[in-house]
Amino acid sequence: MEGRRHMGLFGFLRRTRPTDFPPLPEQAWLEASRYRPALRALAPGDALRLRSLASWFLSTREFSPSGGAAPTEADLASIALLACLPVLRLDAAWWFRGWSTLVLVHESFTSRMESVDRAGVVTEYDDELSGQVTGMGPVLLSLQDVRESGLGDGYDVVVHEVAHKLDGREGELDGCPPLRRGMSGSAWRESFSEAFLDFRGRVDRASRGGRRRGAAGRLPLDEYAAESPEEFFAVACEHFFHTPRRLEQAYPAVHARLSEFFIAPES
Ligand SMILES: [Zn+2]
Repeated sequence: MEGRRHMGLFGFLRRTRPTDFPPLPEQAWLEASRYRPALRALAPGDALRLRSLASWFLSTREFSPSGGAAPTEADLASIALLACLPVLRLDAAWWFRGWSTLVLVHESFTSRMESVDRAGVVTEYDDELSGQVTGMGPVLLSLQDVRESGLGDGYDVVVHEVAHKLDGREGELDGCPPLRRGMSGSAWRESFSEAFLDFRGRVDRASRGGRRRGAAGRLPLDEYAAESPEEFFAVACEHFFHTPRRLEQAYPAVHARLSEFFIAPES
């Protein structure tokens, strides 16, 4: 009897794999994809799969509005679709295991940041943040930034925070998530560190160019990518999903690694 009950339970779990959830309703999909070229460009089968993942995401996450934030149904649908875009071809349940709460605030928030340099000097500074990941804990998102995410310019706070979650899935945040079988860790690190150093150089030169107009505008990626290897990875993911050509032209090796990671069929 005992064994049968277990089989029944496993049968239930099998039936409720993320991809078995009923797709997000057509209306919600049309609304969320209307101004989001990357969603509109999906092949019909991929779009349907993403809508199922989004339903699974909505039914397994807890949304916690804070500070008077009032998320609409459309906001939640957008968050779910953009959050599942990176795991469209991955084992979504495994990658998203261990966290379930999304704290939603109305707009970008200022967070007291602290950094310690090699000599142990602590610098505190205010940094404008539109999203934040706290270890395996909640993801914090600003609704204003969610609404500006995925519109085609390469900015996507949801993909950015999910990228940090993937990065930290096993071990620390360092810009290298646990890779698929067959992928080379050294090729990953080489591709990313070379691109990161190059990008930091470009940002330095752009800022030395001072007030010369548009210096930062000519950067191939969002300037924030120069912060650290883990931010470079998260920003590269935003561009990979929304302005892939721009990323490929600037950093073909990074684009190739991300393609292997996100797109190649599971072996
Ligand atoms: Zn970040």
